[in-house]
Amino acid sequence: MNLKRCATATALILLFLAPALAQSPVRADASRMESRIKALSQFGLNANGGSDRVAFSEHDKQGREYIIGLMKNAGLEVRIDAAANIIGRRKGRFDDRKPIVFGSHIDTVPNGGAYDGCVGVIGALEVIELLNENKITTDGPLEVIVFTDEEGGLTGSRAFVGDLGTEAQTVVNNSGKTIAEGIRFLGGDPGRIAEAARKEGDIKAYLELHIEQGGVLESKGLNIGVVEGIVGIEWWEVTIEGFANHAGTTPMKGRRDAVLAGARFALMVNEVVNSLGGAQVGTVGKFVAEPGAPNVIPGKVTLSLELRDLSAERIFRMYNMIEKRAIVIADETGTEINFRHLDVSAIPALTDEGFKSAIEASAKELGLTYQRMPSGAGHDAQDVAKIGPIGMIFVPSRGGISHAPAEFTSAEDMANGASVLLRTILAIDGKE
Ligand SMILES: [Zn+2]
Repeated sequence: MNLKRCATATALILLFLAPALAQSPVRADASRMESRIKALSQFGLNANGGSDRVAFSEHDKQGREYIIGLMKNAGLEVRIDAAANIIGRRKGRFDDRKPIVFGSHIDTVPNGGAYDGCVGVIGALEVIELLNENKITTDGPLEVIVFTDEEGGLTGSRAFVGDLGTEAQTVVNNSGKTIAEGIRFLGGDPGRIAEAARKEGDIKAYLELHIEQGGVLESKGLNIGVVEGIVGIEWWEVTIEGFANHAGTTPMKGRRDAVLAGARFALMVNEVVNSLGGAQVGTVGKFVAEPGAPNVIPGKVTLSLELRDLSAERIFRMYNMIEKRAIVIADETGTEINFRHLDVSAIPALTDEGFKSAIEASAKELGLTYQRMPSGAGHDAQDVAKIGPIGMIFVPSRGGISHAPAEFTSAEDMANGASVLLRTILAIDGKE
């Protein structure tokens, strides 16, 4: 095609598209979302202004009743599955298609905030309200989900993917109930937990709107975080053996000071993690010196090493670099450094490439700024990734504060997230 004809064709296409583009996109109602977040925060509101709505508590039950009421008013067909997950279904034009599932959780940590999880649930309900108001029927069915006990160990989402064994159900959570007792308390049935499980391929998508819980979006002045995945986590216990001796009579030269080696170790971890470009993080969070007396040269240090990244390969590459440099530190300080890999690892869960593009396109169409980023915290989505494609949308957290009463996300930011969620759902629904 020659250039002139090409330009004419483009102009023609633009002419036809113009009326559609001029139509302003559907946007979430910020004040409705804010008033619902406020109402939900009343269940378990404490003297610090924080939320005490630990899973399986009386407050959790009351908060869930409030959400179930909103779901029913919005015309959703509500059921409680065997793991006590709340599922509100909206019929599609072709109702036997796989559902697009979206939601989050409403349980909190003790003395937590009003936004973690709740923004995802209120945002999911907002999507339903907007579809109702604009008389939109999707092709496939939609399911709004409130996962049970996210904070206590992703209980509901583990059951959702068939990963909640009977032993896990004997764990006592912060409410004082075992997981099994708690599930029963909320109307589930631990004896039939397998019925809550979906198989690989059972869902078309799982989408979760969530507060960032970090300060990246706020500090960069961005509206939306397009989550690339939920990071993998690996832990090691590191022991440093030196030699405990009299702190007064032993000269500085020739000491085998385990704390000195440990301090150098912590600095080195920081250097290694910072030396690679990317969003990986590494932390020495625990540091115990023995014997722990002011007048004794410390003979032993036990410390923790935690590494997180979206790529497991990268985590172990960092670990290898750390191990190599630890040998040098041990050599120079006359100590012995040993690593023990702990069995608590979480594998990275990546989000779907097409969903990321859909989220970005939605943000762009709404005139919002955005950036791709990893999620450093765990979410229900990481479990769901085992059975189907996932996508996550982050909105800013003021001061990067979370799991605390000061947790805050503005009504406008919440609404931006819900508007993006709606457009993304419609985009995914429209694709076969
Ligand atoms: Zn959460």
